[in-house]
Amino acid sequence: MYQEIVNYTNKHHVTLIAVSKTKPVEEITKLYDQGQRIFGENKVQELVLKYEALPKDIQWHLIGHLQSNKVKYIAPFVAMIESVDSFDLLKIIDKEAIKSKKIIPVLLQFHIATEETKFGLDMSEAKGMLDILKINPLSGVEIRGVMGMASFTDDIDQVRREFKSLKDIFTLLKKEYFSTKSTFCEISMGMSGDYKEAIAEGSTMVRIGSAIFGSKS
Ligand SMILES: *Cc1c(COP(=O)(O)O)cnc(C)c1O
Repeated sequence: MYQEIVNYTNKHHVTLIAVSKTKPVEEITKLYDQGQRIFGENKVQELVLKYEALPKDIQWHLIGHLQSNKVKYIAPFVAMIESVDSFDLLKIIDKEAIKSKKIIPVLLQFHIATEETKFGLDMSEAKGMLDILKINPLSGVEIRGVMGMASFTDDIDQVRREFKSLKDIFTLLKKEYFSTKSTFCEISMGMSGDYKEAIAEGSTMVRIGSAIFGSKS
């Protein structure tokens, strides 16, 4: 299954994030040996332990809700934080990045699902933040695009509509805030059950766990 997904994402020029949350180091190593270098985790403590145990050329993406007081543990090594869901969090990431003498690439997470539980910004929050950043830019973070999760539903039309809404958000932000920034280019959407729909709607980055590793943990 892994190789099929690699072939599919390569064909569509989409970056594959192998979501390794709850999976042991041995299983990650197997995938590493097959060439996978980008992995996603949703918990800070687990991410730090895996970073320490595994080869240092792995690019680790944090994809889950991040508490401000935990940013310092991952700032020195994280390759991307995909789940920026508040201005306060972005400011803390900036501060910790500067301490680590690096620039941390981030994505703005948007709430596109109908479910209440999923974290994320809405358009007015994002614009409020970006209007302030226009005047007072942060030097420790680089906003590379947007991220979102569709509803957990069998209604594929609804899922596609939600992905389309994230693509529309990206296009609008690109036009209003990032038209001169080629680095604002990523739309992270699509998981095991819906990555083909996400790619059809313009995803540049898919986050796939169970379809690669199996659903048992
Ligand atoms: C777990 C998780 C994924 C991967 O989900 P699968 O259905 O196992 O592919 C993707 N994105 C986020 C934010 C996740 O928490």
